[in-house]
Amino acid sequence: MEDKTKRNWRFLYRTLVVLVGEAVGLTLLAHVIPGLSLNSFAAALALVVVLGIANALLWPILTQSTLRFLTYTFGIGVLLLNALLIWFTSKLVPGASVEGLALVLTATGLAAINVVLASLLTNNDDAWYYRNILRREIKKTARAIRTERKGTIFLEIDGLAESVLREAIDKGYVPTLAKWLESGSHSITSWETDLSSQTGASQAGILHGHNQDLPAFRWVEKEHGNRIMVSTGLSDAPEIETRISNGHGLLVKNGASRTNLFSGDAADNIFTFSRLKEMRHFYTKSWLYLYSNPSNIPRIIALFFWDIFEEFVGRVRQLVFRVKPRLIKGLFIYYLTRAAANVFLREVTTDTLVGDLIAGRIDVAYATYVAYDEIAHHNGISDSASLRALKQLDKQFHRLELAIGYAPRPYQLVVLSDHGQANGATFKQRSGHDLESLVRHLMGDGVKIYSALDSNLDHFGQAVADPILQRKDYVTQKTSPLVDLVRRKEKERSTRREEAQAIILASGNLGLIYLTDCQERLSYEQINSAFPLLIPGLIRQEWIGFVMVRSNAHGPLIVGSHGTYFLRDHYFEGEDPLANFGPHAADHLRRTDGFLHAPDILVNSFYDPQSDEIAAFEELIGSHGGLGGTQCSPFVLCPTEWELGHAEIIGAEKLHELLKSKLNSEQAQQQTS
Ligand SMILES: [Zn+2]
Repeated sequence: MEDKTKRNWRFLYRTLVVLVGEAVGLTLLAHVIPGLSLNSFAAALALVVVLGIANALLWPILTQSTLRFLTYTFGIGVLLLNALLIWFTSKLVPGASVEGLALVLTATGLAAINVVLASLLTNNDDAWYYRNILRREIKKTARAIRTERKGTIFLEIDGLAESVLREAIDKGYVPTLAKWLESGSHSITSWETDLSSQTGASQAGILHGHNQDLPAFRWVEKEHGNRIMVSTGLSDAPEIETRISNGHGLLVKNGASRTNLFSGDAADNIFTFSRLKEMRHFYTKSWLYLYSNPSNIPRIIALFFWDIFEEFVGRVRQLVFRVKPRLIKGLFIYYLTRAAANVFLREVTTDTLVGDLIAGRIDVAYATYVAYDEIAHHNGISDSASLRALKQLDKQFHRLELAIGYAPRPYQLVVLSDHGQANGATFKQRSGHDLESLVRHLMGDGVKIYSALDSNLDHFGQAVADPILQRKDYVTQKTSPLVDLVRRKEKERSTRREEAQAIILASGNLGLIYLTDCQERLSYEQINSAFPLLIPGLIRQEWIGFVMVRSNAHGPLIVGSHGTYFLRDHYFEGEDPLANFGPHAADHLRRTDGFLHAPDILVNSFYDPQSDEIAAFEELIGSHGGLGGTQCSPFVLCPTEWELGHAEIIGAEKLHELLKSKLNSEQAQQQTS
């Protein structure tokens, strides 16, 4: 009882502080927003009080009845409703007038003030909303659900290596996760990615238990007219899913997929790449929470602009302190894609998940948070900007944990990553030329080459921005006669994919070279006789670790500058080219060699265990896709009783098998008890 009184006092105090804070903020805003005028502080205070009452009384009715409209207009409907309520309120308050564009800007301004106040008060107003506004809704669904079965929510932090997670925990960036670990409810298990440490292969494995024949983020299918398949392609992703799905994915039993590449066979999908075309499935009740609080959408808009400001400050900091390695990011479009990934998708993912939890309908969900991966690509894996992105994600986990307290049935949270990233100056920054220029030089004049070495397409925002970004030229630090020569040749790049004789693709520090004059995969011997300089020239490069080719005489070979590994016969001659790449490197490569669309030549950059660096063939500071270092070491932070730590988890298919068996055995247990 005392607890309740204390809570009520705290709520009253908080409400007063927020109202006064909002009134002060509104008075200031009246000086900058045209159309907003207040003739006194009292008018400002009266406006926020009446608006608060109007929101509390009318908003739930308005959103319930217009949910479908709000979902399909995606935020714009909310802004209109907000504007309507503000207009209505301003008519009731003497001395206040809000007109024109100010109707929309005032709501966003108020949300920005609320973001600042919430961070100052270190209190989350979600709880208040669950208790006071959604209480009746929650009680109603609880009666309808009538199950005590525990649901599971998987939260993926895209691109976070286990070592960086531990660093973030030590430095206090992820207090919610640290608290779970300290309480003993959760523990961390590491796992090892397959070759091609990127979201396409990893999510195919985790969600569908099948990631064969996905050699990289992009690959060439010679038999289909040299078609380039892309994991995020709007028509490719659904096709890939039909190839990998057996209909029994991780989310097949009453599951939901949020912001993933593949659906895991869930029927309920929001922002799932393989199902983006199915807009008729877009509308679900999960959106209710996002729209149930009138300040959610304006808050997302305010955070969006704050993120753009933060990126600007970050760039200035890098310039002033001459942080290296760094990328010249130049284009303004990067600000927008970063904010889209970092803020928009993050907040919408959490809000719809809260909707799922409060509705209590689903048994399992899998959601991806892309923000860290995106920022680490451009800033490095443990740069302060990247760690701050984790801090924001930790807040999301806290919000979800809080929502579970109000859910009509028990839920558990699992946090995991699909791959890590590794740092290092790029191949082009180190050598002065990119992989295409090098191959062009080694293959000789007259060979038509098509390449796609552009940056991380494994992100929603990036997929839009990349066609614009890919022509950007980045800094080079060294010059040599070779550099001059290849620069001249760069001008000749205008080959179309259909007429190319060689197609070069990059996925982090993994390069794929397809020689497309021949439909079949060319052998080591054939490549050497057609292009005698190519393989020797590649392995001589200081920043290339090894290449994989298929020999007629010896089967698949890993060729390094000072030695060769014979994969078929499990031995090496000279120095072991895989020495730095971990005990399972040969197995991973052997598996990729067996893929239908393995490249004629697979190139992997060097990895230096001392400096923990790789060299990406894309222009990214933090990267992933190949073998070497922390990119291959993601983690699972799961309930301790799952005891995942007992098994060595090599490959995403193995992880799928374990997660699926945990879900199945928990369900079986709960049904018998
Ligand atoms: Zn990435």
